[in-house]
Amino acid sequence: MMVAGAAVGAIFPGMTKHMPLVAPAGVSHLECGMCGAAYGDAEQPWRLSPCCDRPLLARYDLPALRGRFTPTTLSGRPPDLWRYAEVLPVRAAEHRITLGEGFTPLVPAPRLAEELELDRLWIKDEGQNPTGSFKARGLVMAVARARELGIEAVALPSAGNAGAAAAAYGAAAGIAVHVAIPKDTPASIIEETRALGAEVRLVDGLITDAGALIGRDAAEHGWFDLSTLKEPYRIEGKKTMAYELVEQLGRVPEVIVYPTGGGTGLVGMWKAFDEMEELGWIGGERPRMISVQATGCAPMVRAWETGAEMATPWEDAATAAWGLRVPRAVGDILILDAIRSSGGSAVAVSDDKMREAVSRIGRCTGVYASIEGGATAAAVPLLLERGLLDAGEEVVLFNTGSGLTYD
Ligand SMILES: *Cc1c(COP(=O)(O)O)cnc(C)c1O
Repeated sequence: MMVAGAAVGAIFPGMTKHMPLVAPAGVSHLECGMCGAAYGDAEQPWRLSPCCDRPLLARYDLPALRGRFTPTTLSGRPPDLWRYAEVLPVRAAEHRITLGEGFTPLVPAPRLAEELELDRLWIKDEGQNPTGSFKARGLVMAVARARELGIEAVALPSAGNAGAAAAAYGAAAGIAVHVAIPKDTPASIIEETRALGAEVRLVDGLITDAGALIGRDAAEHGWFDLSTLKEPYRIEGKKTMAYELVEQLGRVPEVIVYPTGGGTGLVGMWKAFDEMEELGWIGGERPRMISVQATGCAPMVRAWETGAEMATPWEDAATAAWGLRVPRAVGDILILDAIRSSGGSAVAVSDDKMREAVSRIGRCTGVYASIEGGATAAAVPLLLERGLLDAGEEVVLFNTGSGLTYD
């Protein structure tokens, strides 16, 4: 073909499927995130671990990939998350559906850095993903893998963005999608989800109530439940954010500031850094993982502050940052472990501060952030004041969605 290099995949998405790999893709086994018990038969659908009823983590034969799957291998591959296919669970090329998700820009933010009194600051702009949020990463993986395992219908609760992403990938894959979302979710997201072919159920309550409803319906109709961290593959899609950071920056940043709801992204990235060390891409250095939540729903912050290993559910969760309105996370132990093992921290900011920070990010960088993205910049002054961040450190803020999704 006469078309050059990395642009090929973007112009002809079919190219992603036929990209030659250095080793066959697919997991070697699944492992309980709580007790480490191994489950060998990964070619059947799995949900929570049978031993502890906790998230299952996908494992790969990384020693076999070491030295063969390197950042150099990636040059010329299409700019989407399938460029990391060797460390992703989907085995067959024909199931690697894509709408162009991932490989989002790492935007330098010198003027925002100056306003926030930091030296080196980047924004990973996840708002550029299909359907406007990083939920695309988790859902492309879960849906593609579900199709590979022969699943024909999936269901999930959502605060909004996950449902839209699931709808998009269900449509791309030809799989039926059922979504339950709180009825106060912005109308634009509900319309988008329906336009993408999903069945939408409006729930009078929060994402946890939507989850309970979906759990019952899924059991009754035989739909596969894609609730975050209740199946092993959404996290695999989200972990690619860390691979991208290392590929784009050429090193591990010192600090990652991440707006945390269910924690899939935080847990996924933490897992990816370990994988990259095993692959020989990086050494033992790790970013400090800083989790930001809303003052109206901050179960991880409370658990971190009190030294608890698990989080207790947050009563009367209220925040306009829908993605952060998660009163109870199944991955709480993994989130808290990532924060603590990394030497990180957890802080809460008010919705007003998030909104102010959306404007600040916008005017200083040209990135129109979601309110959750705003939360990360809003946290910086607090972190500096409390000595949880040093002005000289290299910091990456995650803008997890586009400001446009909530219009
Ligand atoms: C879902 C969501 C979050 C929270 O992500 P987790 O990985 O589940 O913690 C943050 N921001 C936006 C825009 C979201 O849609």
